[in-house]
Amino acid sequence: NLSDKLDKAMHVLKGHGQITEVNVAETLKEVRRALLDADVNFKTAKEFTNTVKEKALGQNVLTSLQPGQLMVKLVKDELTKLMGGDTAGIDLSGSPSVILMSGLQGSGKTTFSGKLANYLKTKKTKKPLLVACDVYRPAAINQLHVVGEQIKVEVYSEEGNKNPVQIAQNAIAHAKQNGNNAVIIDTAGRLAIDEAMMTEIADIHKAIQPNETLFVVDAMTGQDAVNTAKTFNERLNFDGVVLTKLDGDTRGGAAISIKSVVNKPIKFIGTGEKMDAIDVFHPARMADRILGMGDVVSLVERAQEQFDEDESRKLQKKIAKNQFGFDDFIKQIQQVKKMGSMKDLVGMIPGAGKALKGVDIDDDAFNGIEAIIHSMTPEERSTPSVINGSRKKRIAKGSGTSVQEVNQLMKQFNQMSKMMKMMQGGGGKKMMQMMNN
Ligand code: GDP
Ligand code: MG
Repeated sequence: NLSDKLDKAMHVLKGHGQITEVNVAETLKEVRRALLDADVNFKTAKEFTNTVKEKALGQNVLTSLQPGQLMVKLVKDELTKLMGGDTAGIDLSGSPSVILMSGLQGSGKTTFSGKLANYLKTKKTKKPLLVACDVYRPAAINQLHVVGEQIKVEVYSEEGNKNPVQIAQNAIAHAKQNGNNAVIIDTAGRLAIDEAMMTEIADIHKAIQPNETLFVVDAMTGQDAVNTAKTFNERLNFDGVVLTKLDGDTRGGAAISIKSVVNKPIKFIGTGEKMDAIDVFHPARMADRILGMGDVVSLVERAQEQFDEDESRKLQKKIAKNQFGFDDFIKQIQQVKKMGSMKDLVGMIPGAGKALKGVDIDDDAFNGIEAIIHSMTPEERSTPSVINGSRKKRIAKGSGTSVQEVNQLMKQFNQMSKMMKMMQGGGGKKMMQMMNN
């Protein structure tokens, strides 16, 4: 996958104290190959590597203090630009603002409609209305009702009416009467592009003139995603893209390809099946993710939303003073568990995506970890450095795990503390800068 390949390419640079012109060229060749393999078109990939090379030479990468880091930053910045640069918002100005979903069957329209409704309700204090315009399968209408119940958002549907244009229009009238200020219209898709579907969505689009037309696409579908995006864009001239199923180790090659072909911003990503698995798309963060750094910023943000402020201030102090222990770790795990599905979250932790590749993580995955921590003495929890070989044996026995598993946890814990220290302590500024640029 693209991320692995880029990772490999960048590894040379990250590891090298010294960079020669030869390995800059070699690395860029690898980067280009990785982009091509990920269905980025030839011209884009070539332009990309040329730009990075030019900038590298212009900034005297070879003689700079930390050439590896500078190169990583250049590649990251260019990737960010390729994916749109700034974050693009959605238009919520209409009264009501009407948002139309388009895309193939199975791309995640219905799920995303729910996620967006939930997002607008909780983050933007809107009163959304979900509209079921997938009239061909009763199950589809039902699915939207289930979603609506889950997030406590009203769903508009018309039994027996097979005319989605009419339903959409009626729904908007209903919204005006009921004070729904955001109308999200879920539509039918086919498994592949066909004329009837394109005509139908184009008709709805024309009749209701939405504020925002979103094209929903499964990030795992590679080059197909790009072709589909192109066709939909030609018919709808949509406003933005929603990239779904960006959980697990799907790492966003599609984000680069789609943006470079249709030149429309990616606005949201879906990172799981649950209703809270939605994120605003940040090109810079996606670049990080593609480069294998993990979406640290999103993770921290999500954690902050959930953490009690006091708790988080205490935690920051502890981290700064190197007093972060297993007690805090387990608290974090418990917080993390509250935050959503494990799979989504693990994918955001740097390195974890790769380490856990192919492993099916269920939401009980942390139970083992909790058992290990519970088998530690208070001293061991607050001062993990005292945990030596014989203590590890005892802990493993007590928790019904193996020394190997205890070791692994210790390693993860150390990495996590280091990462948190970097992000908050003095050196953190540098890292945050790197991530935000
Ligand atoms: P639609 O046919 O376009 O309406 O697609 P659905 O919303 O019914 O989604 C199809 C399948 O993909 C369902 O099983 C969803 O649970 C799943 N799905 C949707 N979005 C995501 C996502 O972001 N991540 C994952 N893992 N699954 C998703
Ligand atoms: Mg659907």
